[in-house]
Amino acid sequence: MNDFKIAVINNDLGLLNTIEKVDIHNHAITSCTKEYLIKHNIKLSNDKINDIESLINFSRSNLTPLQLEESGLKLLLEGNFENCIETGVTIVGTSIDYKTCIRTFNSDIEKFINFLKSFEYKNLKILWDLHISRDSYKDEHKKIINKLLETKFFSGLDLASTENIIPNSAFIDFYKLANSFNMITKVHAGEQLGADYIKECILDFNPKQIQHGIHIVEDKDVMKLAKEKGIVFNVCPTSNVILGYAKSIKDHPIKEMVEYGLKVTINTDDLLFFDSNINEEYLKLYKEGTLSVEQLDNIRLFGLSLFDNLDRG
Ligand SMILES: [Zn+2]
Repeated sequence: MNDFKIAVINNDLGLLNTIEKVDIHNHAITSCTKEYLIKHNIKLSNDKINDIESLINFSRSNLTPLQLEESGLKLLLEGNFENCIETGVTIVGTSIDYKTCIRTFNSDIEKFINFLKSFEYKNLKILWDLHISRDSYKDEHKKIINKLLETKFFSGLDLASTENIIPNSAFIDFYKLANSFNMITKVHAGEQLGADYIKECILDFNPKQIQHGIHIVEDKDVMKLAKEKGIVFNVCPTSNVILGYAKSIKDHPIKEMVEYGLKVTINTDDLLFFDSNINEEYLKLYKEGTLSVEQLDNIRLFGLSLFDNLDRG
């Protein structure tokens, strides 16, 4: 039995911290711990996060002001990456909103990218996803998004927030461009809406990965389509339970997704909101009997295998 399985069976967080894994559904500025911010004298409101609205409100009142300054942004990102290293994450796929370039760097693309490049760690490979929030997207941002994609600095593209609040047609050209660069195209779908919307996103965007996608289990035909296309689902169980999109960890759709043969990874989404690090995600799924230790290890190894060709230097 390998160390990962021993650690999971024995509920050994210390040992789990030493075992290599990925976190590829991670949002850059919302993935440090609350303790980390308190330690750095950042005051947070006590608002409870239990749905999407309270999450957005918490983010607006606590994080938006902080990330407008380069120093605040740096603090949030360092907290994210320090936690990754502490918990054994060796590859993080993390998304940063294109509006950060507009708001914090005055639309200076070179400055923005040099800032992102300045985060370098020996034991952590950072893959940046360019994040588009459907809620705040405006057509006038098209030019800067295209320019950011054309730098080829970003590994991936990720469309997030309220599903289908804007029709997919607004974003199709970004996906065409990103796919032509062979970027890791991701889309948040099937977290809030059903399998029909997942299908729509697969057909519209031809994404390599889907963030959440848990409602796919409602429709076997869409599951079949995703399986044939080899789409990877980056699932974040605690996030789904806290926001009310899954009933519980025990009944989480990840079980059915794995048993059907979909490609799945386990991730954190927003550690700051959901207070559950990558190792706690694995442990919860084991303790609740959702997945076996064998299945969990296979998921961990599959996540790492996605980056076999990656230059880790
Ligand atoms: Zn997400």
